[in-house]
Amino acid sequence: MRLFSYLLMGSLLALPAAGMAASPSAATSSAAAEGLHLDWLDRSVSPAENFYKFANGGWQEEHPIPPAYSRWGIFNILHIRNQKIVREIIEDAAAANAKPGSITQKVGDFYESGMDMEAINEAGVKPLEPVFARIHNISNMKELQRVVAQLQLLGVNAVFHFGSMQDFEDSSRVIGAAFQGGLGLPSRDYYLKTAAACKKAKAANKATSAKAAKAAQATYEACLAHAEKFEETRQAYVAHIAAMFELLGDSQKSAAAEAKTVMAIETAMAEASMPRIKMRNPHAIYNIKTLDELEAITPNFDWQAYFANMGVPNLTSINLATPGFFKALNDQLETVPLSDWKTYLRWQLIDSFAPYLSESFVKENFKMHSALTGAKELLPRWQRVVNAENGALGFAVGKLYVKQEFPPSSKKAVLDILHNIREALKSDLKTLEWMSPKTREAALEKLSLMGERIGYPDKWRSYEKLRITAGPYVENVIAANVFLTKRDLAKIGKPVNKHEWGMTPQTVNAYYSPSRNNINFPAGILQPPFFDPDAPAAVNYGAVGFVMGHEMTHGFDDTGAQFDGHGNLNNWWTPEDLKKFKAATSCISKHFSEYTVNDGLHVKGKLVTGEATADLGGLTLAWRAFKHSDAYEHAKTIHGFTPAQQFFLGAAHVWASNIRPAEARRRVTVDPHPPAMYRVNGTVANMPAFQKAFEIPDDSPMVNEHRCVIW
Ligand SMILES: [Zn+2]
Repeated sequence: MRLFSYLLMGSLLALPAAGMAASPSAATSSAAAEGLHLDWLDRSVSPAENFYKFANGGWQEEHPIPPAYSRWGIFNILHIRNQKIVREIIEDAAAANAKPGSITQKVGDFYESGMDMEAINEAGVKPLEPVFARIHNISNMKELQRVVAQLQLLGVNAVFHFGSMQDFEDSSRVIGAAFQGGLGLPSRDYYLKTAAACKKAKAANKATSAKAAKAAQATYEACLAHAEKFEETRQAYVAHIAAMFELLGDSQKSAAAEAKTVMAIETAMAEASMPRIKMRNPHAIYNIKTLDELEAITPNFDWQAYFANMGVPNLTSINLATPGFFKALNDQLETVPLSDWKTYLRWQLIDSFAPYLSESFVKENFKMHSALTGAKELLPRWQRVVNAENGALGFAVGKLYVKQEFPPSSKKAVLDILHNIREALKSDLKTLEWMSPKTREAALEKLSLMGERIGYPDKWRSYEKLRITAGPYVENVIAANVFLTKRDLAKIGKPVNKHEWGMTPQTVNAYYSPSRNNINFPAGILQPPFFDPDAPAAVNYGAVGFVMGHEMTHGFDDTGAQFDGHGNLNNWWTPEDLKKFKAATSCISKHFSEYTVNDGLHVKGKLVTGEATADLGGLTLAWRAFKHSDAYEHAKTIHGFTPAQQFFLGAAHVWASNIRPAEARRRVTVDPHPPAMYRVNGTVANMPAFQKAFEIPDDSPMVNEHRCVIW
């Protein structure tokens, strides 16, 4: 629902689950020995062979993926725990007989309307009929563009995204930004990975030796195998679109034709979309254009009318983030018949709201979700509704959550660790041999300006303008979408709201924002096994310390390093230092490119560079902070594990998880984070302290021969 989350929030700790995914129950391990989860270990695997398996193999064995999930790990288990707390809070609100218009009434009614299956089934698709009628009545290009804006306001993924962002070059300003969008599948790869593309890539690769030719053949065969999987998903998608049109009352024959129309439009959009790797470069997605310039680029799209339709009529310039996409859109507006556009918009409308409609829509929607992620059954209804409510009224619920779940004592203990990690980074920046005095000064300034926020916002957002009723459910979802979109658009042209958080307090995650230069740790993640007041300091430094060092390092990863301490895109590096820094980060992208999932699908090293850099920098900082802490002096060997070993086990344990092949494939194409196993193994393989702690031989796969070094 928040359109530019990746810009507003910068770098997350972990990518949240896909669409509707999130939760049944599984208790966290009970046999924790002083916070060390010894029953999670698989001692039949040597830490020198596969440290992740050694640390988590027992957990993996004991925690098969529940049918409703595509991935199952510590993040999911904590998420469910928080969901249950949130459900209690919401149910109390629902039972309270609250005053109409009060926040309690809104929190309670949203949930009750979502749980009332009888009313939802009875309403069917009726609540959306006025919106379908608007699409049906489009009779010219001008009306088409007006309806696109109207659908976007409702939260429909119609053609592209538009919203607010902090100006990269002047972080005190909030500007409007237009981004590519409009696809129903997770990424452009799903449309473009074909056997024909594999053949083309093979033809372009001129092997010069027998060995190179053999490698090229192997790459080609792997490419074909994966193209086949993507082809299966494309077929499932087209069948799914047709099934949805049939549910809307179209004949089988016309539904099949309409599905092909949608696929053709989206494939053309996918071809024109900027690849995710390129979007990681802030310069590539920063193109300020005046109205005149916009009109020159897309003469077939009336931006002035569009801004008026979106409720921001006075805009005179925006960031056209992905110009290639909009140029192609301009052509599509000319070549795609109006009737085909209407078919496409009908599809996007039903795709956006199917999860909130009657049972037949929910089931068909899940079928596609299952094809994309491998999940075998729907989440229980209450979990789906709690997820939707976290999106709609998340901070209202979060306010009640922290009151109950986050005592001030937790905040203090967490801050102590954070400050020690900050000190470790400061002393590294002061002593890094390769850095020149000029760059060093700017880096230290950036660190000193980096804000830190723990737990929850100091000012809570108002939901006064959001109207929630007893139902129908989908109308409440739409009301919340409109409220959030308008709230976002209202920021354009106003000063930055410094109190705002990009994540609710109950979220199990953390983030760094480059434009705000701050690190944020919601209350939801500050619980075991991330932070356990009863665990040895070594474990806490390895777990929550890793997370903190990770977010701090984002200020200095390949993207973050391009922003200064005030959050402006501004090069503060000397050319010489920048060259050395780029060598360090490209070492990481090369290292991670070697890893694969599902038999030979390679991790995209360049896509995961920022996150893998943050992991290596973060764990290194956490280790140094631990070594310099008072706690290190008193640390003891527990159950045969030295404090250093406890530290690395703590780091590995938070990534304990299992994943289905379809989900692993999806994540390789969309997730800037490396797969969980490599977040652990790839990181420690670059750390001499790990090798020493477990006495790993030099020729082990757990030692990267050409170590990458960030700090
Ligand atoms: Zn991150």
